[in-house]
Amino acid sequence: MNNNSLLSHRKEEPENGILYLVGTPIGNLNDISKRALNILQNVSLVACEDTRQTKKIMNKFNISNKLISFNKHNSLMKIPKIVKDLKEGKSIAIVSDAGMPGICDPGEDITRCVKSEGIDIVCIPGACAAITALVSSGLPSSSFVFEGFLPKKKIDRERILLEISKNEKTTILYESPKRLRELLKELLEFCGGDREIIVARELTKKFEEHVGNNINNVIEFFRDKNIIGEITIVIKGIKKQDLNIDKCRMKQDLKDLINAGLSLSAASKYLAKKNGVKKSEIYNLI
Ligand code: SAM
Repeated sequence: MNNNSLLSHRKEEPENGILYLVGTPIGNLNDISKRALNILQNVSLVACEDTRQTKKIMNKFNISNKLISFNKHNSLMKIPKIVKDLKEGKSIAIVSDAGMPGICDPGEDITRCVKSEGIDIVCIPGACAAITALVSSGLPSSSFVFEGFLPKKKIDRERILLEISKNEKTTILYESPKRLRELLKELLEFCGGDREIIVARELTKKFEEHVGNNINNVIEFFRDKNIIGEITIVIKGIKKQDLNIDKCRMKQDLKDLINAGLSLSAASKYLAKKNGVKKSEIYNLI
């Protein structure tokens, strides 16, 4: 099939041999689209991250279909069978527990495999926590970086935190409520307390809240709270002029340390570590 033929797939009824990536609500079940319901009802089968979760949607809207489990534990094992079924002409929908499949959820691997087999894919767009949090944050939203969950390994995690601290674009992160306090502490360390940030909790749900407006305030807000629910964090990028101010400050710090008796090498090493930059960058300041 050529690219133009994809246009002909924008029909209401599912077509044979197509993989449908179906966006589902991130809390409020009424956010599901009519088109998504139609596909879920009429495809040959629905591959769900958790069948119980998808059943809740199907029951609410009085639809039923064959559901199979497809999650991070069994996806590699199940992909070949799904590809075979698609080649034999079945239509299959992929849904995650919430939001868009493939965004920190199963969907990415199967999309890549199915595409590489020349099978067509159609996305039925739906809610996504990252985009919902971003557009309601009031922070610049036309250019942004989505990092999802930060890596657990310290060295990888610190590399990304450092990137966030210097990024001019808005960054979006996912985090579990249990680890939010720890992440806020790290953001304070890397970005400073004045950096603008919005923590969006329970988007589209009854107790939705948006907590801001800088890291210090957000830490204070959650200090004595039992943090529950789902969390997405939106962090404002740094202004170019702030990067320059940073350089001026580092230059002054370097002069102070040298005046206090440290060698250029020792002072640069210390400031490089403190500011998360290369030693050569500090050298270059003078
Ligand atoms: N595929 C989903 C999407 O499109 O948004 C994301 C799935 S990821 C496994 C789940 C994470 O998304 C949660 O831990 C939380 O960080 C974020 N999230 C999901 N629903 C949310 C909500 N209603 N409010 C705030 N964040 C949410």
